Amino acid sequence: MSNSVLTVSNETLNTMKEHYHSSIVNQSPPGSLFVAKLTGCTITAYKSGKVLFQGQDFSSEANKWGNVEKIPPGKKTTSKKTSAKSPSSKSSGGIYAPPANVSDLSIIGSDEVGTGDYFGPMTVVAAYVTSDKIQLLKELGVKDSKDLKDAQITSIAKEIIPMIPHSLLILRNEKYNELEKSGINQGKMKALLHNQAICHVFKKITDHDQVDGILIDQFCEPGVFFNYLKGKEISWKSENTYFSTKAEGIHIAVAAASIIARYAFIKEFEKLSEKAGFVLPKGAGNKVDQAAASLIRKHGEKALLEFTKIHFANTQKARKLV
Ligand code: MG
Repeated sequence: MSNSVLTVSNETLNTMKEHYHSSIVNQSPPGSLFVAKLTGCTITAYKSGKVLFQGQDFSSEANKWGNVEKIPPGKKTTSKKTSAKSPSSKSSGGIYAPPANVSDLSIIGSDEVGTGDYFGPMTVVAAYVTSDKIQLLKELGVKDSKDLKDAQITSIAKEIIPMIPHSLLILRNEKYNELEKSGINQGKMKALLHNQAICHVFKKITDHDQVDGILIDQFCEPGVFFNYLKGKEISWKSENTYFSTKAEGIHIAVAAASIIARYAFIKEFEKLSEKAGFVLPKGAGNKVDQAAASLIRKHGEKALLEFTKIHFANTQKARKLV
């Protein structure tokens, strides 16, 4: 698909709305101001000021409004998708390996954050990105959340949250510790939450035929994943389910999911720090042991259930420090 994106001022946005008023259709994707359909070009204007021009006449139409980064027709917007084949990226192979053109498809991607952090919750997000939104999300700076600073994550997340159907699940530590104690390991928790988030998103989508597949950022073998889900409802098209590690680099839906998940994690983490009365460190290193010891001194042992993933080795280390 040929397309381009412009960022315009509010004033221009309003001028555009007037200019295209006779072609505006009764269609409003999340976060959009209007959609106009001309012969040869569809224009989607977002409240954020981003305007997407799609179709064979995209460039002549977009050029009316500003300087446009041209994407030559025929050249898909996927030049950087080689990471799918990079040696550091491992896909599970077989029927669960994403197809070569996956980055161009309309995909529900899922990812989680917080599994390695002693403090703070686990957040899981599934997000649906249709092929016509891929370019826009790139323009908004969506990429692997590990390459982004917290402030960037927050600002990108706020822009994309109203634009893409998604489901955010937050597993706070009270519940996490309860599940863990009942014999559900972290891998199974992840599988259950990924499944739930994907189910929620799938239910939000009206046109299921448009969904080309599901891409899960891989944390265990697909067989193990589906084993964890035995007896659970899987209300999505599981025949087109793909698994890959480093999936944020393979489809932007996973990158978007990881950004929203990290944004939610950061917010929860800030709330916890406030409650603790001091800044909690991320990860599970020495600083974390020290902070956990301070937490016990200040709020007592029982606070660990609310603040931490208590089965981590940090708990014993913190007890020793106290
Ligand atoms: Mg992941």
